[in-house]
Amino acid sequence: MFGLIGHSTSFEEARTKARSLGYDAFADGDLDMWCAAPPQLVERVEVTSPTGRTIQGAYIDSVFVPEMLRRFKTAKRKVIKAMELAQRSGIDITALGGFTSIIFEDMNLLREQRVSAVELDWKRFTTGNTHTAWVICQQVETNAPRLGIDLARARVAVVGATGDIGSAVCRWLQRRGVAELLLVARRPQPLVELQESLGAGRILSLQEALPEADVVVWVASLPQSLEIDAAQLPNPCLMIDGGYPKNLDSKAAGPGVHVLKGGIVEFWQDIGWQMMEVAEMAVPQRQMFACFAEAILLDFEELHTNFSWGRNNITLEAMDRIGEASLRHGFKALELESVDRSSPVLVGA
Ligand code: NDP
Repeated sequence: MFGLIGHSTSFEEARTKARSLGYDAFADGDLDMWCAAPPQLVERVEVTSPTGRTIQGAYIDSVFVPEMLRRFKTAKRKVIKAMELAQRSGIDITALGGFTSIIFEDMNLLREQRVSAVELDWKRFTTGNTHTAWVICQQVETNAPRLGIDLARARVAVVGATGDIGSAVCRWLQRRGVAELLLVARRPQPLVELQESLGAGRILSLQEALPEADVVVWVASLPQSLEIDAAQLPNPCLMIDGGYPKNLDSKAAGPGVHVLKGGIVEFWQDIGWQMMEVAEMAVPQRQMFACFAEAILLDFEELHTNFSWGRNNITLEAMDRIGEASLRHGFKALELESVDRSSPVLVGA
C-alpha cells in the first residue's frame, strides 16, 4: 500500500476544504485550533497501472498549513505525527509532499524517530524528489525544442541549484549536454562546491542569470515579494515552475515567456480521488505532484524503501530507474498545451 502526506496551500483553503468534507468545527476554528489538530487519513484510493497491476493507497492530510512554517515546534510535530499515522495505518511507502519533506530535512527530524510508542521506520518514507527531478528534466527536454530552443546551444539557469532537486537537475542537464548551466542560489559556499563537483556551470545572482537564460528551472520556494522584469528575459524563454507554491505564471508574464508547471505528472486514466482538487491541478482526476507519484511507482515496483532520502543524494542511475518506471506505469510529465510562437504569452497547463 502507498501513502501520500500532503497539506493545504493556505489556511483559508484548508478551512474551505474542511467545510466541504463536513468538518464544520475545523472550518470555523482559528489557527491555534488547527495547530493542535491531529493528522487525518482523509481518503483511500485504488490505482491500476497499464501493466494491469492494481494497488491501494491512502491520503493523509498533515493538517499543516504554510502559515505554520514559523511555528517550528508545530511544523515539526505535524510532519512527525502524519508519518506516525501513515506507519500505524500499515502503509508500506509514503511520500512526503509539499513542505513536509523540507520541514523534515531543515528541522533534522531524523532525531525524532520515536513518536509516543512508535519507532518510525525511515524505509517506509520517501521525499519523492528523484521522480520530481526526473520529471522536471523531461519537461525541459520535451518543451524547449517546441519553442525553437536547441538545448545543445542553450543557457539553462537552475534557481535553487544547490538544493536536493536542483543539484540532481544540474547533474542530469550536464550529462545531457547544454551550452551552459547558470547556477543560482543564495549561499556562495554550496554553489562553489556544486560547481566543483560538476566541473562546469557559472555562478550568478538571479538578476544576472535571467537576462541570459533561454530556459529557467525554478526549484526553490521563492518569496511572494519576488518580482521578475519579463522585458529583460530572452524571447523565447521557457520557465519550468518547479518550486512550491507555483506562482510564476503571474510573475513572469511577458512576450515570449512560456511558463510550465514543473514536477507535475498526468496518470494514464482517471483516479477516483478528491485530493488533487485543492492542489489547483488543471485535471485533478489525473494530475498530481511527481513526488506523490514516486510513492505510487515504488509500490507498483514493490520497491518498499526510502528511494529518495537525505539531501543531494540523488544519482543519475536512480533518476533513470524511476523514469523508466514512470513511463511503464502510465505517467506523463505535463507539457505546454500548444505552442504558437507568434503569440505574446503562453501559459502551459
Ligand atoms: P532544498 O531545500 O533542498 O533546496 C532549495 C534550494 O533553493 C537551495 O539551493 C537553496 O539554496 C535555494 N533557495 C532557497 N531560497 C532561495 C532564494 N530566495 N533565491 C535563490 N535560491 C533560493 O529543496 P528541494 O530541492 O527539496 O525542493 C525545491 C523546491 O521544489 C521547493 O520549493 C519544494 O517545495 C519544491 N518541490 C516541488 C515538488 C513538485 O512540484 N512536484 C515536489 C517536491 C518539492 P540557498 O538556501 O543557498 O539559497
